[in-house]
Amino acid sequence: MRIVLVGPPGAGKGTQAAYLAKNLAIPHISTGDLFRANISQGTPLGQKAQEYMRAGQLVPDEVTIGMAKDRMQQEDAAGGFLLDGFPRNLAQAEALDAILKADGQRLDGVLDLEVPEDEVVKRIAGRRMCRKDSGHIFHVIYNPPKTEGVCDACGGELYQREDDSEDTVRKRLEVYHSETEPIIDYYKAQGLVVTISALGKVGEVTERAMAALERESAS
Ligand code: ADP
Ligand code: AMP
Repeated sequence: MRIVLVGPPGAGKGTQAAYLAKNLAIPHISTGDLFRANISQGTPLGQKAQEYMRAGQLVPDEVTIGMAKDRMQQEDAAGGFLLDGFPRNLAQAEALDAILKADGQRLDGVLDLEVPEDEVVKRIAGRRMCRKDSGHIFHVIYNPPKTEGVCDACGGELYQREDDSEDTVRKRLEVYHSETEPIIDYYKAQGLVVTISALGKVGEVTERAMAALERESAS
């Protein structure tokens, strides 16, 4: 299956992607994680991306589309993938269609996670990420680690993302509404969108998401 996850920052895309990718046996591809890995390795791509991420803006398409394409064309993604955080504007959505079409492929569905803005602000404010594995995501209140600052799954150090500060979050939400939300209509026109509520426990949202994807793939 080739699926796109969409939803505001803090909706729970990364959290859900870890479970969905496992259930569906496809790789989780997060452009945000790819940028953060490049930043921690000090690559030129990471240096370029960092200035935009710090400001809560989108990294330019010339950088982002090539990076996403390279990742999607790796061997483990031949049978499908779960995209998280890509595409994030119409130009990226059109580029993705072209990339898939060139290989005779298409998307199977777009899962839209709906969460009220006051909830995403609370989720982002308490988010803690694992330095060793970006799939290990915690929250100081909603999903606290057993030992403060330490990942339950692998013992990695937990940290707060630099772009999770209040000002940057406001900017990221603005960018989501102006640049990313239009892709939902773009995909609706292709009949690909399933919208679910991302409120409730993580496991409940995963069940809702799996049921929605099964309905979508059966239709
Ligand atoms: P996104 O990838 O959409 O930015 P994350 O998956 O990183 O979002 O989740 C943002 C924060 O919200 C994290 O701290 C995560 O632990 C928390 N979170 C995710 N899903 C839920 C949920 N269903 N209920 C409460 N908190 C959640
Ligand atoms: P995320 O981890 O998805 O919250 O993304 C963190 C930041 O990385 C975003 O605020 C952007 O600056 C950048 N980013 C991630 N994905 C993309 C994308 N598809 N296009 C442009 N910028 C992106």
